Amino acid sequence: ASPRKFFVGGNWKMNGDKAAIDGIISFMKTGPLSPNTEVVVGCPQCYLMYTREHMPANIGIAAQNCYKVAKGAFTGEISPAMVKDCGCEWVILGHSERRNVFGEPDQLISEKVGHALEAGLKVIPCIGEKLEDREGNRTQEVVFAQMKALLPNISDWSRVVLAYEPVWAIGTGKTASPEQAQEVHADLRQWLRDNVNAEVAESTRIIYGGSVSAGNCQELAKKGDIDGFLVGGAALKPDFVQIINARG
Ligand code: PEP
Repeated sequence: ASPRKFFVGGNWKMNGDKAAIDGIISFMKTGPLSPNTEVVVGCPQCYLMYTREHMPANIGIAAQNCYKVAKGAFTGEISPAMVKDCGCEWVILGHSERRNVFGEPDQLISEKVGHALEAGLKVIPCIGEKLEDREGNRTQEVVFAQMKALLPNISDWSRVVLAYEPVWAIGTGKTASPEQAQEVHADLRQWLRDNVNAEVAESTRIIYGGSVSAGNCQELAKKGDIDGFLVGGAALKPDFVQIINARG
């Protein structure tokens, strides 16, 4: 058995209203959810308080982004302190949509991760290669470069869950095969061993994201270095419960 608790995050992205969130909360309450899985849902910032107040307490709530400083003249941004003040403990940072739609570079994401950890949040940093990187055999090079950028700002690995999300698999219905995902997860764990230490490599959850569904989650969950999932589209549907229970 893995020493790492299975972890399933949902990423609602820019979807839902209060009525839709009520629906999600209802199927989450019905479950039943495996007690062996840690569950967190990432919700739009304007619904953080609403979701925290209505979602069962054993389910963590994440913001989908936040800025790299505590407060100030940064119109439109929110800080980790505000996320905490809304009763939430988590933030997703560096999602591929933040990187590729909003142009967030590695250095900014790294600074955001650093500040969120300093402010006491738990963080889900996301990394992953584009299709052209994979086709050019540069997957390892790309994800290692993303890790190298994050490293100087990670002060506490016990509050980090690393998400590997190949960009070509996000929202496309194309999933990495269990073998493809396992290969990158094993490479990332080796990178942690080489660049941080063995203890961090063994204890850090590395979760897979990219078109995870009720149909493919069990095969992916069998792989030794896949410690859970980050789920987009399927996190809005009752299928999310099956994904939470993928490892039983
Ligand atoms: C995501 O948003 O992180 C994601 C993996 O989306 P999807 O599951 O829809 O591919």
